[in-house]
Amino acid sequence: MQTNILSICYLIGSVSFIVGLKMLSNPATARKGNLVSAAGMAIAIFGTLFLYQPANSSFHNFGWIVGAMIIGTVIGSVSARKVKMTAMPEMVSIFNGMGGLCAALISIVEFGRIAQDNAPMHVLSILAGMIIGSVSFSGSMIAYGKLSGKIKDHSFSGQHIFNLVVLFVILVLGAYIIFGDSTFPLTIFGCILGLSLAYGILFVLPIGGADMPVVISLLNSFTGIATACAGFLYNNQVMLTGGILVGSAGAILTILMCKAMNRSLKNVLIGSFGGSTAAAGSATGGQDQTFKEISLSDAAMVMKYAHKVIIVPGYGLAVAQAQHVCHELEKSLTKDGVVVKYAIHPVAGRMPGHMNVLLAEADVSYDDLLELEPANEEFASTDVVLILGANDVVNPAAENDPSSPIYGMPILEVGKAKMVIINKRSMRPGYAGIENQLFFQSNSSMLFGDAKDVLQQLIAQIKEL
Ligand code: NDP
Repeated sequence: MQTNILSICYLIGSVSFIVGLKMLSNPATARKGNLVSAAGMAIAIFGTLFLYQPANSSFHNFGWIVGAMIIGTVIGSVSARKVKMTAMPEMVSIFNGMGGLCAALISIVEFGRIAQDNAPMHVLSILAGMIIGSVSFSGSMIAYGKLSGKIKDHSFSGQHIFNLVVLFVILVLGAYIIFGDSTFPLTIFGCILGLSLAYGILFVLPIGGADMPVVISLLNSFTGIATACAGFLYNNQVMLTGGILVGSAGAILTILMCKAMNRSLKNVLIGSFGGSTAAAGSATGGQDQTFKEISLSDAAMVMKYAHKVIIVPGYGLAVAQAQHVCHELEKSLTKDGVVVKYAIHPVAGRMPGHMNVLLAEADVSYDDLLELEPANEEFASTDVVLILGANDVVNPAAENDPSSPIYGMPILEVGKAKMVIINKRSMRPGYAGIENQLFFQSNSSMLFGDAKDVLQQLIAQIKEL
């Protein structure tokens, strides 16, 4: 009876993960989706705590489990509330790393117990969980260090080959444990663990700059796969479903991010792209080029009397926390009969969906958000494009400078609009560290200042006109 109720709990948990994930795909339902999945997870956890009956023993270590849950819940909820939106990718990395560590620890604990039964499928899932979980843990910790600026990009010549050799040795040792007649499985298991942790570090260290989101989403997918291995090991449906969902969602996101940044997945896997070259990137533009500035009153005037304005938000908007005042500007222009839309680049900001989340927080209608392709079709019929703290995602070097590190990355083709107003604080480059020719084009004008201050002043000026 108890076992049947527990199975129902796991079924509810699995269904809630799927429903929650579906709801996460739309900003209007995303918050609820998160709660639905969290509720399903709570049902699965409490079901296990109160209904699970181990085959040959009683449920023990209750105090340890509940104690760890309380500590984890307090740390998780306090840090999630405190974290700034711009530091969210760092937090995602840490949380993801913890998931990988849990999966690896399960494998380490279970190796001594289940490996004795010598069932190759069990040993395989233990090894896969340990290898993938360890790579995900150490890789995520490095990703956290890099995103927070504590760790710099590092690479050495031949690293590409070296990484492949490490991976090969891990696989050979793993195969030896499964099929070989090893008298020292624990020693070999320890070697695999050490090499897997090292591989996670080696794999992420050389990657940097604009390529980090791909790596984070890939590591997220790894954690899901490692969890699914543990689910298989325990024959636990909810763990299996959760792991598969995280693994596949992460893999799909990785592919989409690769497409958005024009990076090949193969290069991500062997840790050989991006990073330091991006920072060193081609510095076109130069000091001899001139740019125009526009005054606040002129900017307010052209926008108020425009037919269509497209706002392009970027990382700077998030830094300035200007999403609410940006929505105010939109409302003020709409009142004057201006059609206002937002063009969202898939990698604008510092994490996938950053701009969507930010604008949803300010109650911007989802219907007003244009994705890359529809936005590019609309720019030609747009009077004014207002760029708020975006840089790399509107850099034409991605289209016309083969030597640029972002060459090939799809961009928002804002230059097609009649007029482009760029708000940022200085002429400094964006995340990829490269100069932007857009700023020097004849239809471009710079509007310097912090995005929030500038927007507040623009609204005031528009009201006065
Ligand atoms: P960028 O980093 O290219 O540019 C942001 C610009 O905002 C800077 O040039 C900066 O200029 C300006 N800025 C900073 N603070 C303010 C402020 N308070 N007010 C006004 N402007 C400000 O951002 P994009 O969004 O265009 O591009 C995102 C970049 O980040 C891409 O290279 C992308 O690949 C990368 N990336 C994306 C991730 C994702 O998943 N979305 C994750 C990690 C990286 P100034 O200092 O002069 O003000």
